[in-house]
Amino acid sequence: MALLITDECINCDVCEPECPNQAIFMGPEIYQIDPDQCTECVGHFEAPQCVQVCPVNCIPVDPARVEDHQTLWQKYRRLQVVQGDVTRARAA
Ligand code: SF4
Ligand code: SF4
Repeated sequence: MALLITDECINCDVCEPECPNQAIFMGPEIYQIDPDQCTECVGHFEAPQCVQVCPVNCIPVDPARVEDHQTLWQKYRRLQVVQGDVTRARAA
């Protein structure tokens, strides 16, 4: 599953820099998570980093985005390929 930020978010800015996939961004009112970028930290960490740092515990799993570990791993691998392409393009 991807995670979801609820409207209890207090915009404390703590989670955004902790995300290894740059999945967290400021929305119109509160921070949001791009589900296509969120791997639940699979591939990087044992546990979701944003959940660990959030002071108000407002980042549950998104019931609309049910993904098993294998699917999250494949998403991680896809993101690595995309990031590798960007890095190579910048170096060229
Ligand atoms: S669970 Fe991990 S990948 Fe997903 S938004 Fe939180 S920090 Fe980013
Ligand atoms: S850590 Fe929690 S309260 Fe702070 S910006 Fe992120 S989601 Fe919002």
